[in-house]
Amino acid sequence: MTPAIQTVDLHKRYGNKTAVHDLTLTVEPGTVFGLIGPNGAGKTTTLRMLLDIIRPTSGTATVLGQPPRTGGPSLRRRIGFVPGELRLEGRVRGRALLRHFAEISGPVAPGVIDGFADRLGVDLNRQVRTLSKGNKQKLGLIQAFMHRPELLVLDEPTSGLDPLVQREFLSMVREARANGQTVLLSSHVLSEIQQTADHVAVLAEGRIVAEGDVASLRLGRIRRIRASVDGVPAAVLEAELRVLGQVRDLIVNGDGIVRIGATVDGDIDPVVKLLASHHVLDLAVEEPDLEESVLRLYGAEANGPMEEVHGA
Ligand code: ATP
Repeated sequence: MTPAIQTVDLHKRYGNKTAVHDLTLTVEPGTVFGLIGPNGAGKTTTLRMLLDIIRPTSGTATVLGQPPRTGGPSLRRRIGFVPGELRLEGRVRGRALLRHFAEISGPVAPGVIDGFADRLGVDLNRQVRTLSKGNKQKLGLIQAFMHRPELLVLDEPTSGLDPLVQREFLSMVREARANGQTVLLSSHVLSEIQQTADHVAVLAEGRIVAEGDVASLRLGRIRRIRASVDGVPAAVLEAELRVLGQVRDLIVNGDGIVRIGATVDGDIDPVVKLLASHHVLDLAVEEPDLEESVLRLYGAEANGPMEEVHGA
């Protein structure tokens, strides 16, 4: 089957700064492909090259079987795109703006626009300039999804959306896949990629530093934990935790109530069970900042060859 997207050695330089370095990736049709990486990793640059908004310095790309450069409007109509920075100004109302986009993108089935607007909770009767950033973003999502394009290219689509709306958006992505559409989703939020993507590429400093299915991605195994425990001396708790190989950056302090902070890189179950053998007063488990995780796991490899993370 023809890949939905195929790039070979795609490269983009701005002056002497390389934004994307010889990027080779394949997005299979009917899948959700997650592109994650910290700010400045090259995600937006990559997506823009796929849409022919900017041109690569070297390398090739095909999108739905065609080069973006020559695909023209007929190729663009088969793609729904949410740009990273969506600017919507002016007195035009949301509904009129979406109708205008529909004239360009191709037919939109009756009721689809209102259906998405209801789900995302945006008022289409307001002038777009009066909408908040999040509500503008919702219009951006509707224009990308409304004509049921074969391919959705979404650049940090949930920025500015509150958690309930983010959840609705993730359902829309899963429904798109169920309809046979392909989705390329960029994000610096690991959890949203984990909830939707079939396949993930981690981008750092313009290079893919890891690629694989979501389950095999080591990034997802890193957690930061904080806990307060009593009934055990700090030194004893510290010694118990240090035995567990997956506990790093351990800080233990306090008399009576012992406070701990640590990074868990791997299976969290033994850590939780160990804590639970004492009297736990408080426990917080957080996803670390993506930049920190990428640097921790792949920093040394960012200038080296690509690593496959299957079974890591
Ligand atoms: P973010 O999440 O912050 O948008 P990103 O992963 O999308 O990050 P890009 O916007 O693609 O990253 O940027 C990649 C690198 O290229 C960055 O170092 C950025 O400063 C640089 N860059 C991007 N656009 C230009 C430009 N027009 N001129 C010069 N440098 C640029």
